[in-house]
Amino acid sequence: MSAIVNNTKRNVVSTLKEAPFYKPIAKEVDVFEHAYAEKLPVLLKGPTGSGKTRFIEYMASHLGKPLLTISCHEETSSTDLIGRFIIKGAETLWMDGPLTKAVKNGAILYLDEIAEARPDVIVAIHSLTDHRKELYIDKLGETIKAHSDFMLVASFNPGYQKGFKELKPSTRQRFIALSFNYPKPADEAEIIVKETGLDISVSKKLVSIANKVRNLTELGLTETVSTRLLVDAGKLIRSGLPKRLAVKVAVVEPLTDDLEITEALVDLCNLMI
Ligand code: ADP
Repeated sequence: MSAIVNNTKRNVVSTLKEAPFYKPIAKEVDVFEHAYAEKLPVLLKGPTGSGKTRFIEYMASHLGKPLLTISCHEETSSTDLIGRFIIKGAETLWMDGPLTKAVKNGAILYLDEIAEARPDVIVAIHSLTDHRKELYIDKLGETIKAHSDFMLVASFNPGYQKGFKELKPSTRQRFIALSFNYPKPADEAEIIVKETGLDISVSKKLVSIANKVRNLTELGLTETVSTRLLVDAGKLIRSGLPKRLAVKVAVVEPLTDDLEITEALVDLCNLMI
């Protein structure tokens, strides 16, 4: 199975030859398969590094559908998604944007961190998320019916938004929603083993460290230890970096710039690995 992945803000397209490794955490694969059958828009909710992107890459490959990923940021506008006129020599040409291409060709469009995008993006996708399933291209005065394979998927990090970039209830209610969180310890250790080749005993220690830090809510960290950070630590250890140093640079330092908290976390981790 193959999936086309457009993974950067610069819209570089690559092809996934086979499904990437994905360890299901709950019923998300079943839910997604049914949502795809019904072409219901899906919102993936959860903290950074909790497997949302990996999940959609896996699902696209598993379903054999092309995937276009857009990393939304504060400058992402509906023009970036729908398309624009460009001047080439003496001609003015229309260039479809990734959303228009996905709508026409029947791809899965993944809007990563949708709440970051400008409000006109939300307006542009409205008619694709209800019974109309169509895209209005105002610059061309055209309405396109979505290909029957087209599906819209978005991600949203509820904790990170801290109230200032919330998704409006009227937008949220256009999606079914899947929650992503940290996997059960045994599953998370298995992910580290599969992703890094590290042995299971050290992987379990990394997971214990993560769960200890995740429970230290009194530290007031904006984001806590994600599976991604553990995978990074695992890779460094696997490549020969001393364990404690790997944990410091891959797990502790990315979480905080506060020197006292850093020291306390390093001491805590050193006791555990
Ligand atoms: P998000 O999109 O939520 O920020 P990612 O999907 O990029 O997070 O996940 C970060 C990394 O964590 C992945 O590259 C992968 O190594 C690992 N990961 C997290 N969850 C899973 C999972 N359920 N199965 C396999 N790998 C996972």
